[in-house]
Amino acid sequence: MTKLRQAITVPIALVFILLSAIVLLSLNASTLAHDRPEIILRGEKGSFSDQKITVEENNGSLYIPLDIFSDKTGYGIYTNEQRQKCVLYLGPDKATFTADNNFVILNEQVVQTPYLPLWKENTLWLPVELLPFLFDENTARQISYNPQTKVLSIHKAHDANVSRINISAKENGTVITLKVSEEFTKKDITLKVANGWFHIDILGGKVPDNLAEKTTPNGLISKVKIIPLEQVVSLAFKLKKRIIDKELILNPEEHEITVNLRTSEKVKNQARNEEILEKQKREWLIDTIVIDPGHGGKDPGALGKGGIKEKDIALGVGLKLGQIIKKNFPDIKVVYTRNRDVFIPLWRRTQFANEKKGKIFISLHCNSNPNSRAKGFETYFLSADQDKNKEAQKVVLKENASIQFEEAHDQQRYKGVNFILATMAQSAFIRQSQYLASVVQNSLSKKMKPLGLHSRGVRQGRFWVMVGATMPNILVEMGFVSNRYEASLLSKRSTQQKIAQAIFEGIRKYKKDIEAAI
Ligand SMILES: [Zn+2]
Repeated sequence: MTKLRQAITVPIALVFILLSAIVLLSLNASTLAHDRPEIILRGEKGSFSDQKITVEENNGSLYIPLDIFSDKTGYGIYTNEQRQKCVLYLGPDKATFTADNNFVILNEQVVQTPYLPLWKENTLWLPVELLPFLFDENTARQISYNPQTKVLSIHKAHDANVSRINISAKENGTVITLKVSEEFTKKDITLKVANGWFHIDILGGKVPDNLAEKTTPNGLISKVKIIPLEQVVSLAFKLKKRIIDKELILNPEEHEITVNLRTSEKVKNQARNEEILEKQKREWLIDTIVIDPGHGGKDPGALGKGGIKEKDIALGVGLKLGQIIKKNFPDIKVVYTRNRDVFIPLWRRTQFANEKKGKIFISLHCNSNPNSRAKGFETYFLSADQDKNKEAQKVVLKENASIQFEEAHDQQRYKGVNFILATMAQSAFIRQSQYLASVVQNSLSKKMKPLGLHSRGVRQGRFWVMVGATMPNILVEMGFVSNRYEASLLSKRSTQQKIAQAIFEGIRKYKKDIEAAI
């Protein structure tokens, strides 16, 4: 009897457990679904009705999936899954986003943003703030976001239908391109020359107030005037010389109207359009790297076991790093804040880096601690937020103490500087600095762990030497000179070479990723 009862109770208990598990699971699933935040997409009349879109929260930011955004709003996208890039066509404006890259190409211009798109589920996810950052009163569509109501609205920036004029110089003439948000026909447009001015009259054309000021004369054109008339807007261009031919091309697919003006002879000394674009591209290329070996001269930095000095290790690694960069990228300019044993004030180091138009600033240091067992390497980026880690705070104090070697009048420079303001001015570079710090630290981990060295990770700190740099910058603490084992390794040329190689490989990855967006 007892056996039989047991046989029955066991299955009943099992069923009960299973049932409650199912109830619990479904409860959990429904709360999860409920918890996923939503925002509302709002278009203007005639475009699309209010649409809810499920977004994802990550580090306090809401992320919008671009594929669903496109479905709901009707704005087109093009996705390159292999390169994890997406192009968004918002009316006449076009933006290209890349995963894990805060550079965006907006209408052929590289724009640095403080936001990082992510790649997930075969599409790009954009931080919601990125869209209002890009699409403002200078684009045909303006996007705004209200975090209280969670409404993202997309509306025409102005009621203009001719939003931009671009003038570019070609070898035998000049091209005027108008960005339009309405389809004009050839009947709507009249081209004429009067009193040395070339006119494009557009029937039904409406322009933003400041269009003339926003247009840069180029090539044959020395001046631009906008004359609003009844039902017609006249765009007037002052000519430097006579034109022999004019041609009107409508390009509704690109939302453009193009007018080619030709002269009989070549227009000399005018940069061609492609050259200008190339130049803009070059400004973003990593063509100059500033290496900053810490301390020097009367400032020895940390003093270590066996009489070794931080300043000597920093210089040793710095010079080796420069050589490796030169060997692998002969076109990159390497500049050193010091290439010998000399004292350089902290403020002068970033000023020098800015003067040299550096694209990356790498400061090299060694750590030290009263506890001789403290060990490992770490990479810092400048941040107004103090790292909560006490050890990291000590590192900041130790490195900033270098100013005691500076002249009294130099020390005055640091007084009254508000770190939060100083770092805000740099906020455009913080994301890149953070990224650079992470790739350099990863690369160091790979190379240094086999030597028995330990990774302390990426940290943030308020370092004087990084304040004011107008480029992404990091500070590497390569190891502890107060630790007997690390001190002996750090003083070896072979270890210094390995550290330099590891930092270089981090820089190479960073360069590749940043330039992939250009
Ligand atoms: Zn140092």
